[in-house]
Amino acid sequence: MKEKIYVASRANRNRTLVDNETYLRWYAESIADPVKFWAEHGKRIDWFRPYTKVKNTSFDGKVSIKWFEDGITNVSTNCIDRHLEKRGDQVAIIWEGDNPCNDKKITYRELYEHVCRLANVLKANGVKKGDRVTIYMPMIPEASYAMLACARIGAVHSIVFGGFSPDALAGRIIDCESTFVITADEGLRGGKPIPLKANTDQAIEIAKRGGVEVKSVVVVRRTGGKISWFAERDIWYSQAVAAVKADCPPAKMKAEDPLFILYTSGSTGKPKGVLHTTGGYLVYASMTHQYVFDYHDGDIYWCTADVGWVTGHSYIVYGPLANGATTLMFEGVPTYPDAGRLWDVVDKHKVNIFYTAPTAIRALMGHGDEFVTRASRKSLRTLGSVGEPINPEAWEWYYHIVGDGRCPIVDTWWQTETGGILITPLPGATALKPGSATRPFFGVQPQLVDNEGNVIEGAADGNLCITDSWPGQMRTVYGDHERFIQTYFATYKGKYFTGDGCRRDEDGYYWITGRVDDVLNVSGHRMGTAEVESALVSHDLVAEAAVVGYPHDIKGQGIYCYVTLMAGEAGSDALRKELVTHVRKEIGAIAAPDKIQFAPGLPKTRSGKIMRRILRKIAEDDFGALGDTSTLADPAVVDDLIANRQNG
Ligand code: ATP
Ligand code: MG
Repeated sequence: MKEKIYVASRANRNRTLVDNETYLRWYAESIADPVKFWAEHGKRIDWFRPYTKVKNTSFDGKVSIKWFEDGITNVSTNCIDRHLEKRGDQVAIIWEGDNPCNDKKITYRELYEHVCRLANVLKANGVKKGDRVTIYMPMIPEASYAMLACARIGAVHSIVFGGFSPDALAGRIIDCESTFVITADEGLRGGKPIPLKANTDQAIEIAKRGGVEVKSVVVVRRTGGKISWFAERDIWYSQAVAAVKADCPPAKMKAEDPLFILYTSGSTGKPKGVLHTTGGYLVYASMTHQYVFDYHDGDIYWCTADVGWVTGHSYIVYGPLANGATTLMFEGVPTYPDAGRLWDVVDKHKVNIFYTAPTAIRALMGHGDEFVTRASRKSLRTLGSVGEPINPEAWEWYYHIVGDGRCPIVDTWWQTETGGILITPLPGATALKPGSATRPFFGVQPQLVDNEGNVIEGAADGNLCITDSWPGQMRTVYGDHERFIQTYFATYKGKYFTGDGCRRDEDGYYWITGRVDDVLNVSGHRMGTAEVESALVSHDLVAEAAVVGYPHDIKGQGIYCYVTLMAGEAGSDALRKELVTHVRKEIGAIAAPDKIQFAPGLPKTRSGKIMRRILRKIAEDDFGALGDTSTLADPAVVDDLIANRQNG
């Protein structure tokens, strides 16, 4: 495919925080002397007691990662208290409800009071430093109050996405032995209620059978829908916060005290309880938020993720609030009341920085440009993407249609495990190539290795590792350090292995090609599933595509494609032929699909990622072993895929 390069666009801003020279200089400094670099940048947050030790990390043997270890701080103080003097009356959170008529604004001073009150409620109910609190909430401001209230008293939160089932919730409650839950009566998405309290009640029963007894449940009234009530256990949020003081002294936390546990999205297997700690995480989340999005004081910033995902943790709550930003929290979905909602919200709140996922972009592309162009979008300056490789087709649409060709796109590669963004362009500094996450952030040392672990230099394809620690890195798998070592540091000894395949080009740019398990090896040629997928999606009739390998007698691996067509289009043999020709033309004969199955929907996690391991099993004719499907958004999709499997 022909590669396009876009200059380091500054959009409608005279000065970005860094230019290319600054990036190169800082990056070189951060690698040459990480201790000096992070000693300096660690000061971006406030410490009750400053650190003297900066970095104490080892990827060998037992693997131990400590940053700023003798420093003492508190995350909630950094996200709230320290802003009060200068910007107490500035809006901290803009909440945009599911229904376009519902919104509200919470200032930093109000945020302080909400968080302190809830922290006092937790304390009054016996929650102590180190206790795990499960948060199962819709996208309402109380979800961030809950996170910050935990941080204030040193409790460890574990957020479970509000779309998860009672079983999934119970599994996570049991895994971290959490006896305190914060939830709401119901959530609301696209006009439909979600029975959060009823699910919680069920999950608590399941957890009890699993040996963990939940003692208290704080319930926020969101819809006023009918719910069951257990007086000895359930607590109304509104009553409880009214009964306690509006001040709560912050707990003095060591830099390495746990901040939260978050279970990965499960697209490759059983979710892992990723543990993040206090100091390094906050330094990294706030620093990446500032530089990656070119955040300036006064900007209105919107990340469309759910707080149930790591993106919501680092880039709706902790990063932006640590920087004193105005962060927008959206309760609804991109297509309600119609497919123009996101851009209407951008205009309504004059959003400057917008951060979303390729799955949303691809879905909205399918609805046509008019939903976008009816909004002015003049306030937009930086656009971001995260979660999956963004195919160049979607990138171009995002850039030209949504951003009017003015706004740099930051394609941010990172993981729940990394705590913050690791590979990304910086606005104004990095020339963009559609589909590439481009270059490493400060302090991040990517390396490509072959399957035997030999280091590959220069332009090449390989397995993506990171050779040294950065402050935002996860510290362990909760309760299972051995699994942490085995999962991330055993494949290539002494290196953090990301599980992702990656290509580095002549300019040193990184292109994530998908999970290593998904990299195809066709007649000895390695190619990323992402490449074939973007070729398919560049065809006018294709809305979405997922590609997997399957055993092939001659080629070793054959290419099996699942294709979702644009609304109203029907699949046919003629179209299959046309798509094969199209891919040949785009990439080459080696990438020609062997099988194409038209599918009305693809199996996705609740965060919108395609679950390729299930598609692989179906392609391999191995339906018996689909594995953990509890994190699927719509399990019914799988039956249709099995029924329409391509054998020919
Ligand atoms: P699990 O680890 O349980 O299988 P998951 O990997 O989907 O779930 P996350 O931590 O949410 O859980 O996702 C991280 C992964 O998402 C990365 O390893 C990568 O495969 C993909 N990813 C994230 N951002 C990008 C991006 N900008 N470009 C390409 N891939 C991305
Ligand atoms: Mg992962």
